[in-house]
Amino acid sequence: MRTDSTDSTDSTDSTDSTDSTGSTEFVDTVIIGGGQAGLAMGAELARQGRLFVILDAAQRVGDSWRQRWDSLRLNTPARYDGLPGMPFPGDPFAFPAKDELAAFLEEYAASRGLPVRSGVRVDGLRRDGDRFVTTSGASSWESHNVVVATGGCQAPKVPGLAERLGDEIDQLHSSDYCNPAQLPAGPVLVVGIGNSGAEIAREIAASHETLIAGRPSAQPPVRPNRANARFFYPVIRFVGLHVLTTANPLGRRSAVKMAAAPLIRTKVSDLVAAGVRVVPRITGVRDGRPAFADGSSCDVSSVIWCTGYRNDFGWIDLPAFDDNGEPLHHRGVVEAVPGLYFIGIEFLYALFSATLPGIGRDARHLARRMPRPQLAPVVLAEGRVRA
Ligand SMILES: Cc1cc2nc3c(=O)[nH]c(=O)nc-3n(C[C@H](O)[C@H](O)[C@H](O)COP(=O)(O)OP(=O)(O)OC[C@H]3O[C@@H](n4cnc5c(N)ncnc54)[C@H](O)[C@@H]3O)c2cc1C
Repeated sequence: MRTDSTDSTDSTDSTDSTDSTGSTEFVDTVIIGGGQAGLAMGAELARQGRLFVILDAAQRVGDSWRQRWDSLRLNTPARYDGLPGMPFPGDPFAFPAKDELAAFLEEYAASRGLPVRSGVRVDGLRRDGDRFVTTSGASSWESHNVVVATGGCQAPKVPGLAERLGDEIDQLHSSDYCNPAQLPAGPVLVVGIGNSGAEIAREIAASHETLIAGRPSAQPPVRPNRANARFFYPVIRFVGLHVLTTANPLGRRSAVKMAAAPLIRTKVSDLVAAGVRVVPRITGVRDGRPAFADGSSCDVSSVIWCTGYRNDFGWIDLPAFDDNGEPLHHRGVVEAVPGLYFIGIEFLYALFSATLPGIGRDARHLARRMPRPQLAPVVLAEGRVRA
């Protein structure tokens, strides 16, 4: 397993590949990533009648959701899970399963005829004169605009101390967790009490002795259920879309402070009720075993790192990033590189920018900010040229 002390920018997995056709294509806009962010962006560009292509590393639209753990259900009710021009089908107050969302994305792309090229991992983006050049293996796409929509789950983040744990301990990141059956017998340590950690720990506790290390950022007293979907979620949605935005000091402060999302479905009391032992943060390794902030350590058979993700834009050769590799943009527009846009990243504009309720608005905003395509000059019959 790769950890944060291992220096590598390659997040390619074995399920996708670069394009080997060796072709070069010209389009007005290239969208890199065909998850909900790339599809919403594509739908807006299609409405404007632009020539664009969506390049996606996965084999099938919706795979980023399909590949998450088996029992995952959305925390956002169906009423807020639709994309521009297409509501999520069925009961608006239900919370869809992850495969239902994946199927919805596939249906969305098909019903709008969005030009998604699946199985194409982009490995380079640079500028050549007045055009962007996007590459995947031997193939390239030239364009006036590029929208990067590669999502917030690019490279699993695992602390360096994972490498010092004993070889007998099975380790995986939450992105590789499917269900408890894949774990060896014996105690399991889940590291990180965010939503993934809490939900995974609760599920595992039914079959394994389970510990969870860390402290939640917050635990709002609202759970995903029908009554809340009807009465409280509209308020939460309003705050996440219109109050906590980068346009005001309160929003900007919360963007900086929000290290982890608050616990939505599974609270600490649920974990305790399920028999999960909550232990302090893991701070080191003693004799190959995880050691905690209170000086204790434990014997476990497996560790699941629910420690989030980091960005991986190493393949973009453009002056669009700060010293930490974070994109420099104003509401998704990269002012230093005209024609370059980001969508679907944390707090692009609002707290909900990287979620389904926020993606449509950000896509609309970017499509409006994108200059109209330059039409090729038309040579009239009498030899005059119309621009
Ligand atoms: C466990 C979990 C639960 C979540 N639950 C909710 C929820 O309940 N409600 C909600 O609104 N949000 C939720 N989110 C947040 C968010 O909605 C999802 O992360 C969502 O998948 C983000 O969509 P996206 O399109 O931005 O990115 P992704 O879905 O990650 O899609 C990015 C796409 O880009 C492609 N890609 C990446 N790199 C390249 C490359 N170099 N070349 C070509 N293609 C590339 C990938 O193949 C992928 O298809 C959840 C997130 C997680 C991790």
